[in-house]
Amino acid sequence: MSKDGRIWLSHSGIEGLSRCPRCFWLAYHKGIRQPEGIVSRLANRFDTVLKNYFNSFRPDLPPMVEGKLEGKLQDPFVETYFVTIDNKYGFYGKLDECLVSKSQELIPIDFKTSSSDPRGKETLDAYQAQIDDYNFILKQNNKKIAGWGYLIYVFPDHSKYLHKGFPMIVHIVKLIGKPQNTAKRIAQAITVLEGKMPLSNKDCNFCSWFDKIQSELE
Ligand code: SF4
Repeated sequence: MSKDGRIWLSHSGIEGLSRCPRCFWLAYHKGIRQPEGIVSRLANRFDTVLKNYFNSFRPDLPPMVEGKLEGKLQDPFVETYFVTIDNKYGFYGKLDECLVSKSQELIPIDFKTSSSDPRGKETLDAYQAQIDDYNFILKQNNKKIAGWGYLIYVFPDHSKYLHKGFPMIVHIVKLIGKPQNTAKRIAQAITVLEGKMPLSNKDCNFCSWFDKIQSELE
């Protein structure tokens, strides 16, 4: 993303750095990305349905999470926040939802659609980073934060009554947000972007395929 002449980093953009610094560098400097292939958009659909559902109850909590969360939904909801890092870089993020505690502190929420039972499972590093990032952007925008966030997982359950609707397991995970880790990830991303194009990831099939094709053509 580019606005004001700055390069605008994001959570998903920086996640690409952990997969391959070269692909990350190429995406931001040249707009070149790996071909996406065939991907399911089902999780996007779940996100949209959940967002609309929560929105229809604002500022109250919807029955799906009643008794499981405290506070009210932010009203009006502010989805996108921008943080200027310096003259060349910025960082932005979009929240799925936001709670407001009794003491007016903001608590970001992210919806997760799970294909396996999320209960009792370790939280992925990328999800922890997301909560860090949300707390970072809120804090940098001078918002009062509680210092944590929630992941709300939905997981379709078995039932012999599917004709009456799909039963969903709703699993909520509270994560402490560490905005200082986001600041470190941003600094690391900028260091990579300010350097020369990094080497490719030897385990990735795409670049090795391209190298083989190139050597055949030489
Ligand atoms: S190694 Fe794979 S991930 Fe890295 S630049 Fe090449 S295609 Fe992208």
